[in-house]
Amino acid sequence: MRSPKDMEIIQIDITNACVHKCSNCTRFCGHHKKPFFMEFETFKKAVDSLDDWSGCVGIIGGEPTIHPEFEKFANYIREKRIGKKLELSRMPIHDMLKHINDSFSLKSKAGLWSSLNLGYYKHFEIINDTFSCQLLNDHNNACQHQALLMSRKELGINDEEWIKKRDTCWIQNTWSAAITPKGAFFCEVAGALDMLFNGPGGWDVTKDWWKREPKDFVDQLHWCEICSGCLDVPKRISNDGRDDVTPLIFEKLKEVESPKAQKELCVIHQPEDYDKTKYKTFTGGNDYMEAGGNVRTTSENRNLYPKSFDVTNKENLISFIKDSKPKDWIILSSDKNKAQKVAKYIKDFIINPGCLYVCDGIPVFNVLALSIRDFINKSDNLDSKNISGYYPKDKIIKISIPKWYNNILSIKNKNKRKVITVLGIKFSKKTKGSEVSK
Ligand code: SF4
Ligand code: SF4
Repeated sequence: MRSPKDMEIIQIDITNACVHKCSNCTRFCGHHKKPFFMEFETFKKAVDSLDDWSGCVGIIGGEPTIHPEFEKFANYIREKRIGKKLELSRMPIHDMLKHINDSFSLKSKAGLWSSLNLGYYKHFEIINDTFSCQLLNDHNNACQHQALLMSRKELGINDEEWIKKRDTCWIQNTWSAAITPKGAFFCEVAGALDMLFNGPGGWDVTKDWWKREPKDFVDQLHWCEICSGCLDVPKRISNDGRDDVTPLIFEKLKEVESPKAQKELCVIHQPEDYDKTKYKTFTGGNDYMEAGGNVRTTSENRNLYPKSFDVTNKENLISFIKDSKPKDWIILSSDKNKAQKVAKYIKDFIINPGCLYVCDGIPVFNVLALSIRDFINKSDNLDSKNISGYYPKDKIIKISIPKWYNNILSIKNKNKRKVITVLGIKFSKKTKGSEVSK
């Protein structure tokens, strides 16, 4: 086992609510009657406790981006640990998987763990202003999750063998210590077990809690007794949704009124059938992802793509905002054909809602942008003739539709109906604005 001071990452669990209910989730999502959402003051104390620690402080869940105060949390950790806004994910992204592999690194002082859902889209700008460490996995893939809720006593593993396994647990040795609303823990799974089974809580989140050595973990090691993280136990594809459990743990889940247990989403393994030679525990690193080909997201995941484009011009922008209350991207142009071409081109890119894109001279911006959203809400104060004036220079991104794309369009335009069907875009008839929806 390792002291938290020797780890690369220490996690802060800000919620255990999630949009998924993966098999064998390390936070046991789907087993809680009611999820928690960490208070800001608790988060602040957690971040501050790590002022003298130089590793990466992770924000994790559940799905952290659905925390109602996510933006406030991200601002705080950026100001505290990074000190400036980053400039990530601003150019249009065509291949998200490549972008993930190329752009992010563990070598940052703040990190985000997310399953790339609509919360990520909502907070896209602030996430990419803040976290150069992003561990992203949409869990629609075939990655494997190892059973965690099988107890070694039920499986007949004797003290000697078990202590060796426990003390070399790959999760504690390669993953993280964690802070939950109930304190600090030597292991992130121990923190999640404490939350699930109403445990006594962790250590006080003092300025030096993370300096503890393995000899100081004694008061928390009881969680290892009911955790199979270190054992040779079954694994399951994460999107299967079911958990592997032993009978006594299943009883404990029923006691805490686990929704997954009630919905028969637990596979109960009888101890007499356990054959440890059939299984091999993970070793750490990336092997749980490699089992599914390391595919962290696919083109089928459309959560981060533009949802809709509304078209209006500078003269009508204010009344259009008041009347139509746009929710996503606005294209500012009096030329419908040009606007349509821009929408058709950029709809298949992931673009940062915090940026103003100027595509062949036509401004495209999102009502979610931190630079402009308050002015959108009070639209009377918006200077519609000077939208670019609201954005910092580094968030104004010029893009051009390439010639080859124009050539394809001109061929397809010979049969306009086909173009509309193929590209899935329609203009609705509105007096002050037009909508291009997907
Ligand atoms: S996405 Fe992550 S936190 Fe959510 S259920 Fe799956 S493994 Fe758990
Ligand atoms: S056995 Fe479980 S609780 Fe113990 S260190 Fe490993 S993952 Fe953490």
